Amino acid sequence: MAKLSIRDIDLKNKVVFIRVDFNVPLAPGTLEITSDKRIKASLPTIKYALEQGAALILASHLGRPKGKRNPDMTLAPVAKRLAELLAGVKVTMAPDCIGADIPKPAPGEIVLLENLRFHAEEEKNDPAFAQQLATGVEVYINDAFGTAHRAHASTVGMIQFCPVAGAGLLMDKELEYLGKATSNPERPCIAILGGAKVSDKIEVISNLLKFADRLLIGGAMAYTFLKAQSLPTGKSLVEEDKVDLARQLLATAGDKLMLPVDHVVAAEFAAGAPNEVVETIPEGMMGLDIGPKTVAEFSAVIGAAKTIIWNGPMGVFEKPPFDAGTVAVAKAVAGSGAISVVGGGDSEKAVKSAGVADKISHVSTGGGASLEFLSGIELPGVAALNDKK
Ligand code: AMP
Repeated sequence: MAKLSIRDIDLKNKVVFIRVDFNVPLAPGTLEITSDKRIKASLPTIKYALEQGAALILASHLGRPKGKRNPDMTLAPVAKRLAELLAGVKVTMAPDCIGADIPKPAPGEIVLLENLRFHAEEEKNDPAFAQQLATGVEVYINDAFGTAHRAHASTVGMIQFCPVAGAGLLMDKELEYLGKATSNPERPCIAILGGAKVSDKIEVISNLLKFADRLLIGGAMAYTFLKAQSLPTGKSLVEEDKVDLARQLLATAGDKLMLPVDHVVAAEFAAGAPNEVVETIPEGMMGLDIGPKTVAEFSAVIGAAKTIIWNGPMGVFEKPPFDAGTVAVAKAVAGSGAISVVGGGDSEKAVKSAGVADKISHVSTGGGASLEFLSGIELPGVAALNDKK
């Protein structure tokens, strides 16, 4: 069921609470914002609401203060940056996120609440705290896709105390692309999974196998599958306790599932380590990237796809030259002309470092949330929003 969007709701002269994701990196000591990407990502929703005449309350978490006030994790630098980005708009930093001291914004103004996670009740989804957050709120909007897989007071609990609840523009876009890619994809629809751990992605794999035409697996995850086929894996990262599960997945997947046919191996896990390309991993060596033959096979499938879902790097892409497979896959995805949805911080970094981010249809802002969505799990922060009439 489609969710109500901010565009469906009358915002004029209303007190509108937007749960944003302002979890920005701050330099220790100076509290300088080292990347304002997340603030900028929320601007379309904020500007839209202001244009509609809303009085805005913005709320976010930042870091992991573990339920205690921590001056190193204040949102004050975000209020300052937001005021710079929205020149002419009054932005007031609130002393806390609940209580009588929270200033009341006038229409066209913004009050930014202090870090939600200064209160342990936020992550506990405490009803009394949730009700306090909702005090005076006439419209609730969630634009923080990256936290939608968590049932917290600001993402779920407070909604029952708000007259109406919908998705912000960023959330809308996430739901649109991820929904399109999973519910009625243009075919062939393929999924590419990589990264370190099979255990994190088992459910995703089973669900992807239900609707994707091919599933390409690279990264360290692939070695658990090679082991399940009794192929040599040397010193590569293998999750021994997941080998049986991998065997079952291989049996159900048949030839839908593609694994690497060659590997870049090295004796040690280090940037620039002496390496070679092999088809059979020798004793004492570890696979750190997919090899050129695999890149060619994967690229051919990617090139013919009409929908591509990608999550996780094909190798240890932080340590060149073991980034080559991931970069090649990023370029193949970008060049395919398919609808492409990339999730997870590592894949995002990979498409950026390959210089192709602008050719990806949608780079998801939520790693964990997009994986859960792909697993077929309903995100609590989305489920809690009102359905479109
Ligand atoms: P994940 O968080 O599960 O998406 O895993 C991402 C991490 O997997 C990255 O830090 C990669 O360096 C790592 N990774 C990918 N391929 C390999 C590999 N072949 N061996 C060890 N680590 C890998």
